[in-house]
Formats: sequence, structure tokens, C-alpha cells
Amino acid sequence: MIEVQNLHKSFGAQKVLRGIDLRLDKGKVLVIIGPSGSGKTTLLRCFNLLEQPDIGTLRVGEIVLDFKEGFKPKQEQILKLRKQSGMVFQAYHLFPHMTAAGNVMEGLITVQKKNKAEARRVSLELLERVGLGNKADSYPHMLSGGQQQRVGIARAMAVNPEVLLFDEPTSALDPELVGEVLRVMKSLASSGMTMIVVTHEMKFAAEVADRIILMDSGRIIEEGSPQEVFQNPKSPRAAQFLNILT
Ligand code: ATP
Repeated sequence: MIEVQNLHKSFGAQKVLRGIDLRLDKGKVLVIIGPSGSGKTTLLRCFNLLEQPDIGTLRVGEIVLDFKEGFKPKQEQILKLRKQSGMVFQAYHLFPHMTAAGNVMEGLITVQKKNKAEARRVSLELLERVGLGNKADSYPHMLSGGQQQRVGIARAMAVNPEVLLFDEPTSALDPELVGEVLRVMKSLASSGMTMIVVTHEMKFAAEVADRIILMDSGRIIEEGSPQEVFQNPKSPRAAQFLNILT
């Protein structure tokens, strides 16, 4: 289970998260939507402590951290939490000097302490799962953006995380490459992977999300099933935002 309670985060004087509460059960997909600057990416990055909350409670699986003034998580807690959460970035961030398999193996060797042969075997399995079994020995520059992002997904899965975090995974892609990445994400969702996805892909959100939250100015202003949020938004601000998109 993933949970945050009363999460706050500021950058200097700017309050970016202003009391976020949410809970996601194992095997479910949460999609975070909202206008630019509303705090979506910051919230996502709090789940693996790429950003550290100022105040609030964060739970990922067995790990619970209680943030308050003066609290700094220990390096060991940060690493433990990061092992539980695989992150897929907008701009892939693959190592350019490593093959697709090499990129996926990295976490298996350094984090999971697998030997090279075992890491190679698992990386081939993961690349197969994202439809890239035949590209294991290709370098990133030999792959399309969509293929690179699918390697990014395989790499995030390599640590066998409790949750996969996606930060606008298709927004850097040419439109014709978006579909292949969304298809992989859909198949992961239907295989029972717990996922939190920041995206502007509303069709994907409507089809795949179990729950949607809509953020505005650091708060959740709408929350529910895709049907509840898209077809019957309760607040005028949410209705206005969703209207702009359709
Ligand atoms: P977008 O859809 O444009 O990606 P978002 O909803 O994901 O937006 P965030 O990226 O979380 O929004 O940013 C929220 C606010 O926090 C923005 O005003 C942004 O400029 C600010 N911000 C984010 N990260 C930092 C940082 N490291 N330092 C200072 N300000 C930051």
C-alpha cells in the first residue's frame, strides 16, 4: 500500500504541495492530472525522495517516514525507499554508453547484488516484457524514443519495486511513438503492477486508472474513478480544467 498524509512541500517561499492526502492499494493505478505548475511532478518525486517533503507522512509498502521540522531521513532509509519505487522519467535518462540490456542490468547488479549472468538473464526477461527482446544489445542512440522509453520502463522494473512511478512518460515522444509506450504501461497495469502516473494523456487515464486525482495549486481538488472525475466533476475549477482538455 502507498499512502501520504498531510504532505507539504515548499521551494523557498513558494508552497508547492499544501496538504496532500492519498492512498493507493496494491495492484491499483493512480493517475495524477492537473494544470502546469500544480505540483504533480513534485508529489511524484516525493514518493522516492527525489524531493523531500517538509511535513507529512509517507508510506511505501513496509516503509513509513514521518516528516517534520528538523527530520532528515537516513541514507539507509532513502535507499530502502528507492528500492521500493521504480521511476520512469520523461527524458528516459538511459546511460548512453551501455546497451539496452546493460541499462537494465545496472540496478540488478548494484542494487540487487545479482551476478552478471543472472542480471543478464533477468534483463532479457524484462526487455521481452516491454517488447524489446530483440534489442538487448542495441545502444540507446540506435533506438527510437519509444523504444528508449520502454527500456526505461524495463530498468525501473528491474529492482522489483512495490510501485512504478511515471513522470509524464510520453510527453517527450513524437506522437506516433506514444501508443507503443502506453500499450506497455497498460499491459503492466493489467498484470497487477501498482502504478502512479503523471500524464496529460486523458484517454489513457480514462482507460487505465483505477483512481484519478486532479491537482491545482498544490492541492487535490477532485478525486475519484475516471467516470466520476471526467463525467461529473464536483468543483467548478475541475470542470473548467477538464473542459479545456476536451
Ligand atoms: P508540469 O505539468 O508543467 O510538469 P507540475 O504540475 O508537474 O507541472 P511541478 O513540476 O511539481 O508542477 O512544479 C510545481 C511548482 O514548483 C512550479 O512552480 C515549479 O516551478 C516549482 N518547482 C518545482 N521543482 C522546483 C525546484 N527544484 N526548485 C524550485 N522550484 C521548483
